[in-house]
Amino acid sequence: METLTLVIPCYGEEETILPFLEETQKIEKALASEVLFDYIFVNDGSKDNTLSILRDVSKRYINVHYLSLSRNFGKEAALLAGLEAATGDYVTVMDADLQDPPELLIDMFTKIREGYDVVGTRRVDRQGEPAIRSFFARTFYWLINHISSTKMVGGARDFRLMTRQVVDSILELGEVNRFSKGLFSWVGYDVTYISFENRERVAGETSWSFWSLLKYSMDGFINFSEAPLNLALWAGSGSFIASIFGILFVVIRKLLVDDPVAGWASMVTIMLFIGGIQLLCLGIIGKYIAKIFLETKKRPIYIVKEKG
Ligand code: UDP
Ligand code: MG
Repeated sequence: METLTLVIPCYGEEETILPFLEETQKIEKALASEVLFDYIFVNDGSKDNTLSILRDVSKRYINVHYLSLSRNFGKEAALLAGLEAATGDYVTVMDADLQDPPELLIDMFTKIREGYDVVGTRRVDRQGEPAIRSFFARTFYWLINHISSTKMVGGARDFRLMTRQVVDSILELGEVNRFSKGLFSWVGYDVTYISFENRERVAGETSWSFWSLLKYSMDGFINFSEAPLNLALWAGSGSFIASIFGILFVVIRKLLVDDPVAGWASMVTIMLFIGGIQLLCLGIIGKYIAKIFLETKKRPIYIVKEKG
């Protein structure tokens, strides 16, 4: 029989792992005639009792396994660790907090049987989320879909069911800066989405602050678009062309009316303006160089301390 590996990154999820297992095991039973479940929990350097709970459940259930990373490497790294360890014919990525409803797996599996390579899920609403966060999330998707050739579906979660072939393709992408939303979309294949209404966490708290999300979206732009570099180019070209007109204006005026333009206030403003654009452009280029630097160091993306 075919197997389905569930990859579950966990950071500070001591309260959610047991309810999560309880719910997914119901689905495991419902799908028992179709596919065998195999769980890989990845403890991403949690500071609470996540690891001891994982040790416990892996002893209790033969198909529950875990990896424990040597420190908190971030969700992207934990996800990769899980995907690399997954051996199933199908793989699904799920959050531990039950924000990804396990019962959707049944419909997702039906779709895979229909011939899709990937079945993703998306939230139709963002109920229970601060308005400002929704606003920024929408802006992010609008912008990235305009400036990047890799299209990202708004509201799509990482919760997705993939065939072995798709997982292998994702693992072939060797970059150190991993922006999964983009990588999942970049590999292509036949993808369909199932929509569902937003759920709140069963317990615990989100590990994403407003700033960490902002930083995450910046990573998305830099990893999947060259548009910020173009912006630097256009801003530079624009102000250069404007300065030529400025010079012509001053020279011609001097020749015609012999009255050079007075006032250093305007001068200072212009210098600040140009200086500002230069720094902005340098900053943008610096961001890309920092990414190159990270890539060239070729450090491992995660370190496994313990397996079970
Ligand atoms: N997570 C992780 N490492 C981190 C942060 C989060 O493995 O550094 C896991 C977390 O345990 C959860 C999933 O990633 O299973 C999504 O995190 P969270 O629920 O905090 O994010 P949200 O659902 O609010 O986007
Ligand atoms: Mg969550």
